[in-house]
Amino acid sequence: MKTLVCSKPGVWNWRTEEKPTLAADEVLVKIKRIGVCGTDLHAFQGNQAFFEYPRVLGHELSGVIDDAGNSDFAVGQAVLIIPYLHCGDCLACRKGATNCCANMRVIGVHQDGGMREYLNVPKSHVLAVDGVDFDSMALVECLAIGAHAVRRGNVQQGDDVVIVGAGPIGLGCAQFAKANGARVIVVDMNDDRLKFCRKEFGVDVVKAGGGAASAISELTNGDLASVVIDATGHAGAMVGSINFCGHAANLVYVGLTKGQLTYTHTDIHKKELTIFCSRNATLEDFSRVTDLMREGKVVSTCMVTHRSSFSDMPDRFTDWLKPETGVVKAVVELD
Ligand SMILES: [Zn+2]
Ligand SMILES: [Zn+2]
Repeated sequence: MKTLVCSKPGVWNWRTEEKPTLAADEVLVKIKRIGVCGTDLHAFQGNQAFFEYPRVLGHELSGVIDDAGNSDFAVGQAVLIIPYLHCGDCLACRKGATNCCANMRVIGVHQDGGMREYLNVPKSHVLAVDGVDFDSMALVECLAIGAHAVRRGNVQQGDDVVIVGAGPIGLGCAQFAKANGARVIVVDMNDDRLKFCRKEFGVDVVKAGGGAASAISELTNGDLASVVIDATGHAGAMVGSINFCGHAANLVYVGLTKGQLTYTHTDIHKKELTIFCSRNATLEDFSRVTDLMREGKVVSTCMVTHRSSFSDMPDRFTDWLKPETGVVKAVVELD
């Protein structure tokens, strides 16, 4: 089989190898689609922290069961892969927060991933999905991160929810907040993204910048938001998000910065803000996404702006690094 290796930043290499043999409790998945995510782009550019090379990238994966091993799956069954290999023993795992396992290994990040024709995976990390196409299934992981953030923020019917940052994660957050019955306002600097959100998801939009807080205040009759979800990963925006929070609001950081966040304490204290971090997703989030996809309440295909065959991917990949190509999400297709 063909495997694509990122041997060092900026370099792809094709490797020909045997189909993997299965360990106990593993299944073999024939990969059909690979979603390309910010992590892959950063890893290829060499600016993903703590990343080791050579590495086979790819963690947004759908396919079919090729060898069911000792599992209950059927050969040919459509599945997606949950790439978060948690330990099951640590404090977080014992509390059910497998998404932030202290010993987390993510397929395609900490160990080799799915840019290959066949991948062996623990059967516990494979989810059978009916009635959803392979493209959408490959995007479930990305969307599940948004679903988790919305769950962390405890978004309820009737809430005014502000999503800051209309990248793939923010777009997921907007859809899940809406599915929970919230009124959603998306904030971004990019006019095209804002137009996209209004058209595809029917949400309110506000241009990021000096006037954003007053625009949000106007849209919410002076209340500001009951939940703010920051999906920018930009320290300045993350601190600025407190200006969009109403009193007693929840603020969720799903974006990640390596920088420091500095507040004046009174600004968060007077509103009694609750600040959450939101990392990865659990099985519950993955299932929520596939349920809503089946009900037609969450769409992923509109997010796919670029696609490629597996063999063409190394040539196309450089385009996907350039925001000016209008890339939201790229998907790689295997036969
Ligand atoms: Zn990802
Ligand atoms: Zn653990």
